[in-house]
Amino acid sequence: MCARRTPVPKFVYSFTEGNKDLKDLLGGKGANLAEMTNLGLPVPPGFTITTEACKVYLESGSEPEGLRDEVSAHLDALERTMGKRLGQADDPLLVSVRSGAKFSMPGMMDTVLNIGLSDASVAGLAAQSGNERFAWDSYRRLLQMFGKTVLGVDGDLFEDALDEAKHAKGTSDDLDLDAGDLEKLVERFKGIVRSETGRDFPQDPREQMDLAVRAVFESWNSDRARLYRRQERIPGDLATAVNVCSMVFGNLGSDSGTGVAFTRDPSTGAQGVYGDYLQNAQGEDVVAGIRNTVPLAELETLDKASYDQLMGIMETLENHYRDLCDIEFTIERGKLWMLQTRVGKRTAAAAFRIATQLVDQGLIDLDEALHRVNGAQLAQLMFPRFAEERPGQGEKAPDRIAWGIAASPGAAVGKAVFDSYTAVKWSRSGEKVILVRRETNPDDLDGMIAAEGILTSRGGKTSHAAVVARGMGKTCVCGAEELEVDTKKRRFATADGRVVEEGDLISIDGSTGKVYLGEVPVVPSPVVEYFEGTLHAGADEQGGLVQAVHRIMSHADGRRRLRVRANADNADDASRARRYGAQGIGLCRTEHMFLGEERRKEVERLILADTDDERESALRTLLPLQKDDFVELFQAMDGLPVTVRLLDPPLHEFLPDITELSVRVALAEARKDHNENDLRLLQAVHRLHEQNPMLGLRGVRLGLVIPGLFSMQVRAIAEAAAERRRAGGDPRPEIMIPLVGTVQELEIVREDAEKVLAEVAAATGVPLDIALGTMIELPRAAVTAGQIAEAAEFFSFGTNDLTQTVWGFSRDDVEASFFTAYLEKGIFGVSPFETIDRDGVGSLVRQAAEAGRATRPGLKLGVCGEHGGDPDSVHFFHEVGLDYVSCSPFRIPVARLEAGRAAIETAGSDSR
Ligand code: ADP
Ligand code: MG
Ligand code: MG
Repeated sequence: MCARRTPVPKFVYSFTEGNKDLKDLLGGKGANLAEMTNLGLPVPPGFTITTEACKVYLESGSEPEGLRDEVSAHLDALERTMGKRLGQADDPLLVSVRSGAKFSMPGMMDTVLNIGLSDASVAGLAAQSGNERFAWDSYRRLLQMFGKTVLGVDGDLFEDALDEAKHAKGTSDDLDLDAGDLEKLVERFKGIVRSETGRDFPQDPREQMDLAVRAVFESWNSDRARLYRRQERIPGDLATAVNVCSMVFGNLGSDSGTGVAFTRDPSTGAQGVYGDYLQNAQGEDVVAGIRNTVPLAELETLDKASYDQLMGIMETLENHYRDLCDIEFTIERGKLWMLQTRVGKRTAAAAFRIATQLVDQGLIDLDEALHRVNGAQLAQLMFPRFAEERPGQGEKAPDRIAWGIAASPGAAVGKAVFDSYTAVKWSRSGEKVILVRRETNPDDLDGMIAAEGILTSRGGKTSHAAVVARGMGKTCVCGAEELEVDTKKRRFATADGRVVEEGDLISIDGSTGKVYLGEVPVVPSPVVEYFEGTLHAGADEQGGLVQAVHRIMSHADGRRRLRVRANADNADDASRARRYGAQGIGLCRTEHMFLGEERRKEVERLILADTDDERESALRTLLPLQKDDFVELFQAMDGLPVTVRLLDPPLHEFLPDITELSVRVALAEARKDHNENDLRLLQAVHRLHEQNPMLGLRGVRLGLVIPGLFSMQVRAIAEAAAERRRAGGDPRPEIMIPLVGTVQELEIVREDAEKVLAEVAAATGVPLDIALGTMIELPRAAVTAGQIAEAAEFFSFGTNDLTQTVWGFSRDDVEASFFTAYLEKGIFGVSPFETIDRDGVGSLVRQAAEAGRATRPGLKLGVCGEHGGDPDSVHFFHEVGLDYVSCSPFRIPVARLEAGRAAIETAGSDSR
């Protein structure tokens, strides 16, 4: 009898066994180390413990059975390859233990170098290398890194001891510490470990390694890592891999060193030699800024052979990954070693340039190029920017005083003010102001609205200032911690001790986080000039940026299924939207047609009307004014659909402010000077006052209770269309009813509207084919969409109101009061007003779309909330099969690009 053997899971992969597509199992770092190994590049040998092993550890609290033996087998093999044993007293093999999950994330354990060193082997390392200083330096680094990251000792204790040693020697450069100094420091560090942890630093090399591996497993669940995952919606069960890599040493002398490099400039995309190199250094010394690095190009003079080899490897990597790669390398006594590579991060402009350059090089096709850029990058390229920090001749470089967090993009210039009251007061008198606070809270809201931009010295991307500024589309730099903000004295101090007083001009760049003293000139975006048509698509502006954008946009347009419309209320916005590529207007709000001196009087008459006559007379006066507005709009959008939404906001928004009016009436009373109209107005304001205007008398409800109001609007639309048609135009209006909750509401409005359309057609002799549809922006409408579709020829999802009503959030209230807390707790990673909440609001959209089309096949579906211009949301709307998205004119290119990306991505996942 033969017992079937259950396959033993494999938990450890040698670098020779993996490849770049195994990121789920080996993590990003491990998969790429394996890929480089198999490309024949010089990677120090090592192995990777899989994410599966980590999962078992996290679930059961101990290492999986068999892991120890498997690690032993791989360590044996490594030792045989290297010809020395881990921690061997006379010639120790040393390794690094490095975390590496599928996605790189903050909070994971920092790499520990030089594992295997001990009191015994430090002498062996000294003898073998012939460099005693190097051996002690390596040992003190191990104690420091291991103590801090594996044993959890406060890192400052080590730093302070190191500083003291340097101080005692009268130097600030660690290279001035000699072997004796470092040996003493090692004793000092061991003492710190003992007193902080109650045990000695482990002298057994294998124990060091096992403890480090376990610490990596555990770091998966560190608070920072968990928070980051929740916010970025990275699944919590991916777990991390652990890489054990034999050490190579850049700190063996001046013929050694360590560096980082990019295969292209990550800020411009230009090909060339980009990177930094530091002689006689190990690990993070390059980026830690402890000593001055030299530009990578200088390596050519320092070590020509290694430099040439590195250039060759970089070319190999770029051709292999077909993308910009970033690299970590070390040179040990003239021998080059590759320690890491990955597809590198880049600026928005570089992303577009690199994608098209790679197409030209034949490395990728246009679909892939489109896939590699995104709407957020395009949006960044569309903001006006400060002139480059590199000044032209005769210009002064902008004076940068801080570098905070880029929280909400844009370039803003204004006078520094330190409280909301001053911000409002100054801006009313025409001053541009920047509101500067330590952090903001809901009391600052008015000031934030009044300011050009917001600058805070505390808080990150989810702080109150950041969330509210993004919601308002206002420039914001937050967390500029170098600045000492003193709101009482109305000033702030910079790191170098300068003081900026209230009223001093400052400039903030919300796309980079940089803060400048004085007014920095703002330059328009060439990408916007291209969309506006003032810059030709072939223009060689900014290193080919415009050409690159044009090529990728054209490809996106060719690929996308979703149409893109604009939210625009007047002919100017409509024309601009058209230049940006809008294929119609998805939302024309008509409320502004009730504003302005002349119209407001008629609207007051309409609201105050006691008799049908009075009301009709007011409506009769409004009719031709509105008709003229529509004529202009239809002319601007000739040949394209224009969805006009009938009046939506509550009427009291058109009446004077209740407090102002009360005061006026009271003062008049006191003077015995009765103003009959003001009295009636005041009564009306009281009568119309609502506790929750968002849920009150508005939208279709207004149309149903104010006789003649909607009919007047429909007539204005119809007459305008007839006039345009007779003038030889091609007007294509569609009439949209807001805030419908039940089909009955729509049926009544529809009946009246059809009557008016027929009347106008008869009177003008112009046949009018105007579709009538509705917004779906209430949960009840979404749930009964099948019924509503009987009376609607199209749906437009009003996802702003739908999000408010599905969540029960009043946006104006909740964003300012508790969204920061929700974002910080990770309840959502991004505000549901920024990106559609797929599971809740999105699910209703999907159901309503399906139910609507079941009733009326071919029902036209669109979306007109702000989500229509949000990259993630556009993908969702593509998936649920909407016909178009509609967004503000400025977002149209973003929507076009993302609609194209959504189309190739779904096509790709079908065929792959
Ligand atoms: P991170 O993900 O933070 O970059 P790494 O694991 O890449 O962490 O390592 C931190 C630093 O230590 C890097 O500079 C890396 O090049 C260096 N390093 C890692 N392993 C080794 C090794 N085996 N030999 C020499 N240097 C190493
Ligand atoms: Mg690294
Ligand atoms: Mg609405």
